Amino acid sequence: MQCTFCKSHAFYRREHEGVSLCKRCFTKSIENKVRKTISEYEMFDYKDIIAVAISGGKDSLTLLSILNRLKMRFPLSKLIAITIDEGIYGYREEAISLAKSLTESLGIEHKLFSFKDLFQVTLDEFLKKQNELAPCSYCGVLRRRALEIAGRSVGANKIVTGHNLDDEVQTMLLNILHGGVDRLMRSSPVLADPDGRFIQRVKPLCYLYEREIALYAYVTGLKFQHIPCPHGSRALRGEIRDILNSLEDKHPSLKYTAFSSKMKLSHIIANHKVQLNSCRICGEWTSGDMCEVCRVLLENREIRCLIREA
Ligand code: SF4
Ligand SMILES: [Zn+2]
Ligand SMILES: [Zn+2]
Repeated sequence: MQCTFCKSHAFYRREHEGVSLCKRCFTKSIENKVRKTISEYEMFDYKDIIAVAISGGKDSLTLLSILNRLKMRFPLSKLIAITIDEGIYGYREEAISLAKSLTESLGIEHKLFSFKDLFQVTLDEFLKKQNELAPCSYCGVLRRRALEIAGRSVGANKIVTGHNLDDEVQTMLLNILHGGVDRLMRSSPVLADPDGRFIQRVKPLCYLYEREIALYAYVTGLKFQHIPCPHGSRALRGEIRDILNSLEDKHPSLKYTAFSSKMKLSHIIANHKVQLNSCRICGEWTSGDMCEVCRVLLENREIRCLIREA
C-alpha cells in the first residue's frame, strides 16, 4: 500500500477520507487538523495563559505535545499543565507520573489539584458513601468544578481539554438518552461565557478520531496510561462507544456526520439564553438555586459542601 501523498510505504488506511498514509504524512495530517480547528474557531490569542488539562491518557498527552509544537505561532502565550487527581486508587497514580514525565521533558510547568484538597473527599471515598450507579456523573460534575478552580488558581484565561470526536458524539447521545438536551450547548469546541463568569473552555482535538489519537501517540513515542479507570466499566458511555465503533466500521465518517448534527443542534439551543444565579451554598454560578457540585456532595449524608476558593 502506497501513501496517497508521498508514494512511500503507507502504514494506515484512513477510510473516512479514502486515503492511505505513511507515518510522516499521518503525523503531519493530525497536527494540521488540530491547527485548522484552532484557527477555524479562533481558539487562542497571542497573550493567552492556557491551562492544558492533562490526565496522563493518550488524548491529553497528545494535546499537550501538539500544543507545545504549535506554540511557536503564539510566542507570548503560556502553557501550564494542570492535572486533577480524583483519588481513584490504583489508577490515577500511574497517570500522574506519566503526566509529570512528559511535562518535565517538554519543560512545561505542571500543577496538581486533588478532589481531596478541593472537596475534602476522594472519588473512591465519595462512591463508597452513596448507592447510585453513576460514578462518572459524579466524577464529571466535580472534575468540571476542579478544573475551573485549577484554571483560576494558575491565572489561566483558557482551559484546554483533550476531548476527541468520539467523546463528543458519545456525550451527545448520552445527553439525549438521559434527557439532558440543554447540555448540548455546553459542549461546543469553544465554550465561552460572555459575562466572564467561567474560564473559556476549548477542545482542539474535537475533530480527531480517538483511534487516530492513539496511533499518533504510538507513532510519536508518547508514553500514556493504558489501563482503564475501574469505575468506567459501569458507564453507559462504554456501550455507546462500542455501538458507534461498529457503525463507523460499516459506514465510514458516520461520527463526523453525527458531530456536525450535534453542532447544528447546539447552535439552535444556544439561542435560548439560560438565566444564571449564584449557588446559595458555594456562590458559584448555576441555573437553579444550588449548583450541581453542592447537590451531589450534599446528597451524601456525611459530606458537607465546603468548597470555597482560596
Ligand atoms: S471513567 Fe468515570 S469515574 Fe473514571 S475518571 Fe473517567 S469520569 Fe471519572
Ligand atoms: Zn506520505
Ligand atoms: Zn454550590
